[in-house]
Amino acid sequence: MRNSHLVDIVPMFRSKRQDQSDASVQEAINAVLESRQYVLGNQVKQFEERFAEFCGTNHCVSLANGTDALELALRAVGVTPGRFVLLAANAGFYGSTAVRLIGAVPHYIDIDQRSLTLSAGALDAHRGLRPAAVIVTHLYGQLAPDLEKILNWAEANDIPVIEDCAQAHGATRGSKRAGSFGTVGCFSFYPTKNLGGYGDGGAIVTNEDETASKMKQLRQYGWSTKYVNALPGGRNSRLDEIQAAILRAKLPYLDKCNALRREVAARYAAAFADLPLMLPVSLEEDYVAHLFVVRVSDRNAFRDHLKNAGVSTDIHYPIPDHQQAAYPCDQPRDALPVTEAACESVVSLPCFPGISSDEVDRVIGAVRTFFG
Ligand SMILES: *Cc1c(COP(=O)(O)O)cnc(C)c1O
Repeated sequence: MRNSHLVDIVPMFRSKRQDQSDASVQEAINAVLESRQYVLGNQVKQFEERFAEFCGTNHCVSLANGTDALELALRAVGVTPGRFVLLAANAGFYGSTAVRLIGAVPHYIDIDQRSLTLSAGALDAHRGLRPAAVIVTHLYGQLAPDLEKILNWAEANDIPVIEDCAQAHGATRGSKRAGSFGTVGCFSFYPTKNLGGYGDGGAIVTNEDETASKMKQLRQYGWSTKYVNALPGGRNSRLDEIQAAILRAKLPYLDKCNALRREVAARYAAAFADLPLMLPVSLEEDYVAHLFVVRVSDRNAFRDHLKNAGVSTDIHYPIPDHQQAAYPCDQPRDALPVTEAACESVVSLPCFPGISSDEVDRVIGAVRTFFG
């Protein structure tokens, strides 16, 4: 049995081989230790400046993680308890968690069949709910193809748009980056993300001065100044100096890492073109290949076959948000046919910077032999 030899298994992710930036990361950590400043110091300030510049926005406010980014962004744009937030149900419950933390109500919109991101055509039917915000998740690293249409609809209805960019750092359309299209862009720097720290981290980017200043208050107890609690909904959600220093050291490599991911995706797409698999909608710069997700009808057999060939797979995500047990949901089963069908057929294949050419060949071989 090949999969009994751990060394032989092609993993979903391996952080060690990702870091061409290892030396600069070590230097960055040392600089923090020497500065003896660990929270909201110079590293955070500099990372925020560079990341805002990278995204092409006026502001970046760093935070403790990506879920806080979503929650505090929703608060900053005025989402309050009982109000509706429109979002897709196939994006791992992160947006739903943020909405629920506020006591607001997620209302799920079906997704586009081809890209598996929020469908603009489905939005207008839900205008009557007077939604307080829309969350667009650039799932798997794919900038939502309908984003501009969604933005136009939201603008016409005066609804803020939150981009969930936790899988899409650096994705580009025209000259614009993920996060710079909507009212607020939310990022996670969890270690496996396209830009990942050595622990938890997150940020928002925005062009709005007022939203940025609210976010700075919300991440620190709602303080306007020290010990003055001016804004409700605040908490402690700060990125620490060590993570900021690491992220700043890694940021210059992000575009290159994304290009490496895209190369792997392009090899898979070419090798699978004749197979009965649904492939990612784009291999261009609007896709940063956070995950390479195929859709296959006999998923269990497909995964078993790959496992026996020593190839790891995963499912992002198996249970749609409206069927999760934690919160009862008014939207019934069958309410979101495209979402539900996607959750039953999606499979992620290993795709990360640092995967070897041999490993990619092994994944390709294993997938092709499944189809005989
Ligand atoms: C990872 C992720 C998040 C949450 O980020 P954390 O830092 O883990 O809280 C939110 N949305 C999406 C799409 C993600 O992939």
